[in-house]
Amino acid sequence: MTAGTTVRHFPMLIGGKAVDGENVLEIRDPQNDELVATAASGGASAIDAAVDAARASFDDGGWSRATPAHRSQVLHAIADKLGEQIEELVELEIMANGATVRQATGFHVGYAAPHLAYFADLAARYEFETPMPRASFPVLGQSTMRREPIGVVGAIAPWNFPLLLALWKFAPALAVGNSVVLKPDEKTPLTSLEFGRIAEECGLPPGVFNVVPGPGPDAGARLASHPGVGKIGFTGSTDIGREIMRLASGTVKAVTLELGGKSPALVLDDADIDLAVDGVLYGSMLYSGQICESMTRLLLPDSIHDEFVERLLERASTIQLGDTRDWDTDMGPVVSARQHSRILDYIESGKAEGATLALGGRVPQGERFERGHWIEPTIFTGVSNDMRIAREEIFGPVLSVIRYGSEPEGVALANDTEYGLASSVWSTDNSRALEVAEKIQAGSVWINDSHQINCEVPFGGYKQSGVGRELGPHALDPFTEVKNVHLDLSNRRDARPYDVLLSHADD
Ligand code: ADP
Repeated sequence: MTAGTTVRHFPMLIGGKAVDGENVLEIRDPQNDELVATAASGGASAIDAAVDAARASFDDGGWSRATPAHRSQVLHAIADKLGEQIEELVELEIMANGATVRQATGFHVGYAAPHLAYFADLAARYEFETPMPRASFPVLGQSTMRREPIGVVGAIAPWNFPLLLALWKFAPALAVGNSVVLKPDEKTPLTSLEFGRIAEECGLPPGVFNVVPGPGPDAGARLASHPGVGKIGFTGSTDIGREIMRLASGTVKAVTLELGGKSPALVLDDADIDLAVDGVLYGSMLYSGQICESMTRLLLPDSIHDEFVERLLERASTIQLGDTRDWDTDMGPVVSARQHSRILDYIESGKAEGATLALGGRVPQGERFERGHWIEPTIFTGVSNDMRIAREEIFGPVLSVIRYGSEPEGVALANDTEYGLASSVWSTDNSRALEVAEKIQAGSVWINDSHQINCEVPFGGYKQSGVGRELGPHALDPFTEVKNVHLDLSNRRDARPYDVLLSHADD
């Protein structure tokens, strides 16, 4: 933005109204730190107002009691609109989170419309009532299992895939008739606010979808602990995930948590090296490594280690950093000054702990990189699995290469982590790769691939990578309450077991 130009301002969305908040968030482009937009920021009182509006819309029934077919139709209409407005949404996304136009079009924003369409399809055919087997003991009866919307659902979203990861929570919640309060990350609220506008244009009743950008410890914490919210869907760091669980426990809210990762790429000695080199770089460097399931630990067998590393370094050095809006750019900046210094600290710790810095590790040279938050693709070799760069989530373009001897040693290293979000196995022998996949403790194992996020299959983590699953055919279940309605069919007093209590009626 040049001096003197005004930037677009995005108000909050509460009860169908554009509302300004207590404060203003400055949205800055990570590639040059320029101010590109402002957004209203709310705290606890804005969250309270949004929860009240959401509850009122839920009780009104315009959405919660609409037919599943109608809800599906509205969600499809929104998905179509997202598809039509993809260029505008991509621009809003990349100016706040620094993704490249290729990544945002293909993935960050590009996935939003088809994923929403998938949830809309699930909404149409969802089994809201399931007859259970008829009981004949102790008396004749029939139960029906009902799935009902919870009421008000809270969604707390991160900055890396601001629209998509928010949508994984709010779309299944809406699909079954809930009302939603979304708190996007304070750096990246623009596409969520724009989504709210589009959704109401397409027929979502006012108050059903509310968006309150604001600070995590204030707005986020209030949402996670609010007594009027029945469920929280969260994606973010494991530390904040623990905090969300603690806050939600006060009112015993259900939670779905998608948290950190330290995913292994386990290359077996019969891997197709060219394919694996590209797949591992895609797995570790996409969006500058700021993806929870990124393949940040590369496990290489002794027999192919040197050849693999040589080709990996050659290939990684072709990754071009540059203008995020240029279709030729491969990699952009990292999201913020805070992340930038965290990542550089990790690089220093890798060097201090004795790993070999084989590539990158610095701020790139050149005028373009003097402002903004840039880091070269970085590869450490000679890493041991107990170093911080092998154990802690860095969330940057940093790959740690670890050697192993036998296949069981490789599998043990893959599992030697507190996380368990994703993993990949590289082998030309499918049977062998499938056997190894069974031994890996992670929510996703991609054989000969990375980042295979598909809305039709569940995604989530083992161990400290999360609680519950998003996506897949059961994606709507966590946003429902299950109710059993029992209907007595006997009309007989004499068959009842009431005499275990009422034994003196004839005395
Ligand atoms: P990161 O470390 O990648 O920034 P976080 O886990 O800190 O990710 O943030 C993910 C989301 O959680 C953001 O929307 C953020 O505002 C929110 N958040 C941060 N701290 C809290 C908190 N104490 N309570 C609730 N939400 C929070």
